[in-house]
Amino acid sequence: MSKIFCIANQKGGVGKTTTTLNLAAGLVKLGQRVLMIDLDPQGNATMGSGIDKRSLTLSVYDILLESATLAEVRTQSAALTQAGCGYDILPSNRDLSGAEVELVALERREKRLQQALTAVDGDYDFVLIDCPPSLSMLTLNGLCCAHGVIVPMQCEYFALEGLVDLVNTIRQVHGNLNRSLKIIGLLRVMFDPRITLQQQVSQELETHYSGKGQLFATVIPRNVRLAEAPSHGLPGIVFDAQSKGAKAFMDFAKEVLAKFDKI
Ligand code: ATP
Ligand code: MG
Repeated sequence: MSKIFCIANQKGGVGKTTTTLNLAAGLVKLGQRVLMIDLDPQGNATMGSGIDKRSLTLSVYDILLESATLAEVRTQSAALTQAGCGYDILPSNRDLSGAEVELVALERREKRLQQALTAVDGDYDFVLIDCPPSLSMLTLNGLCCAHGVIVPMQCEYFALEGLVDLVNTIRQVHGNLNRSLKIIGLLRVMFDPRITLQQQVSQELETHYSGKGQLFATVIPRNVRLAEAPSHGLPGIVFDAQSKGAKAFMDFAKEVLAKFDKI
């Protein structure tokens, strides 16, 4: 059975897509079979995986509206496959924002993705879902089929406030729609140890979440190579494997794998 994780945080620009792509590539490097789902109409995970979002014939939109099967929509990037980091991709573009509206009138609207995933359960070790920066019907579709949520966050004051909303949403989905949903862990990203506030928030996260096993030990540093990689259609791990950011994400992939090997 595949492990299905949402990478979610309703705050924008906190590193969700960067985390999804690098974890996907890292897990493939570690010998895992991975499916990456772009659940964001911005299509950043699609472009960052080397797939042109402007020329899609089928996308996640078709899966949610049941006009195509997952097997018909999934695709691969030739560059990633060549680099030995090929994962399957369910791509998206702005069409997906239409799905949000169209789904409202439909039955089982929050279970569409889950339904589609059951057909390919044996094909993957990990399914990673890049969520949009909102707690919308799209995110809900992701949360309904996931075993857990990975929450990338910057160590800033408001990050902790936003976390309360996300934790409440996860609790509600857990209670009403998906009993297996839980927080897998918070991941500190874009970390700059020279900034005192970041050190303090990081410390606070350790105090509150380490004991519960909900904080990843790996910390992702701010690193310009990670920011440059998407314009080349590659995750940082593939773009510059020797960079500090890539090495940290490789450690993160190992940490995730170790955590779930035991289960
Ligand atoms: P959105 O909410 O819009 O979907 P997001 O949470 O997916 O955003 P990303 O797109 O991953 O966030 O990251 C936001 C920006 O920060 C991007 O330009 C990305 O390249 C950059 N970035 C992410 N992580 C790092 C890092 N560790 N070091 C430097 N830049 C980073
Ligand atoms: Mg994103």
